[in-house]
Amino acid sequence: MKPLQEAAEINGHRLRPESLMMSYGYTPAWSEGAIKCPIFQTSTFVFRNAEEGKAFFELAYGLRQADPDEEMGLIYSRLNNPSLEILEHRLTLWDGAEEAASFASGMAAISTTLLALLKPGDVVLHSEPVYGGTDFFLKQVLPRFGITAVGFSPKASQEELSAQVAEIVQGRLAMIYVETPANPTNHLVDLRACAEVARQHGSEEQPIRVVVDNTFLGPVFQHPLHHGADVVLYSATKFLGGHSDLIAGAVLASKPLMKEIKAMRTFMGTMCDPNTGWMLMRSLETLKLRMERAAQSAQVIADWLREHPQVARTYYLTHLEHDPAQQAIYEQQCLSPGSMISFDIEGGEAEAFQFLNRLKLIKLAVSLGGTESLAEHPATMTHSDIMPEVQREMGISSQMIRLSIGVEDPQDLIADLAQAFGTEADGITASYQPDAYAMYI
Ligand SMILES: *Cc1c(COP(=O)(O)O)cnc(C)c1O
Repeated sequence: MKPLQEAAEINGHRLRPESLMMSYGYTPAWSEGAIKCPIFQTSTFVFRNAEEGKAFFELAYGLRQADPDEEMGLIYSRLNNPSLEILEHRLTLWDGAEEAASFASGMAAISTTLLALLKPGDVVLHSEPVYGGTDFFLKQVLPRFGITAVGFSPKASQEELSAQVAEIVQGRLAMIYVETPANPTNHLVDLRACAEVARQHGSEEQPIRVVVDNTFLGPVFQHPLHHGADVVLYSATKFLGGHSDLIAGAVLASKPLMKEIKAMRTFMGTMCDPNTGWMLMRSLETLKLRMERAAQSAQVIADWLREHPQVARTYYLTHLEHDPAQQAIYEQQCLSPGSMISFDIEGGEAEAFQFLNRLKLIKLAVSLGGTESLAEHPATMTHSDIMPEVQREMGISSQMIRLSIGVEDPQDLIADLAQAFGTEADGITASYQPDAYAMYI
């Protein structure tokens, strides 16, 4: 790790992640001077001799402790691969994590982490709503292994959460699993409150781990590890990949926790493949640029939507004046509102569908965090397996439309939205603020 630390500073000046994404963890001399790391498209690695093979396996299988400067040798691409190791080193920088692991998908990251850290008899307390795949895994798959999932209301205060935890502790609470902001309502969960509750009720023998799905704002706009979380994970399919052209996941935590999670990854075979890993490294070079640009456009668009006569309400992280508690959480843990906007259109499903069918530049598709803007209807698409009463409790109605804003010109996006409402685009000049936007170009 020493060369990595040296590479991250100049005369004691710490370099920022965006400056290190092109070089960190890779030396051109390793590969004929190639400025970019090659794709190590290989399943296995040749040992120099039998003794080396033995030594590598001893470390990989934990048969002995590593010497102080000894790194795990390359064995087989289900265990490790240089393309993935370089990617994982780079991923640690954004969240300030000790270690990272890359996965074949966000769901691979989530399922492997939960299976690594939970055992029969354990209880997981989770925020609600969570991503559909996660919801299914928590409620349908984990119970088969004797693990119980209990949801907590997005409106629960720290005291209510603590009371709920006190009740469960007898049943071995092992994890608080949080998704914030929630999809598609952008509702925030207080990460520090979760970490405090976990510390209060957990113990050394029976720790309560706080695991955060940081796909929506991270790793540029929210750093859960800084707020007391133990594990942060991502669908790297979204902002990290950022071009709607790959499926991947990532998990970051302390070395001891990552040891358990990586061991489970080895046995489940849920690692990322080298080609996808390489694509992710390319994406990381522009991560901050893309996220900042998209968030800046989203702010302009959200403000424009809020003023539109056919919009009943917006769900956006700088539109929280009506809710001081949410506003306080936003100020404490979010660095930007990000680029996910939901809004209720006047009317119901028919009006929402008419709007979605009219969009031209913005594509009608699920997923998010890519360079192109997307729109979808949560009630009948991403969240359609949730019963209507439960949808209503979560704040999802047939009026709701979710937008993921990309890197197009915001004026062009507003022109598209305006024509989809069936109105002229002349609202643009009134609401579009070129001065506020110019500083980001
Ligand atoms: C997409 C998504 C996932 C699942 O990720 P995949 O890469 O599709 O497996 C998990 N959590 C959130 C918040 C997501 O948006």
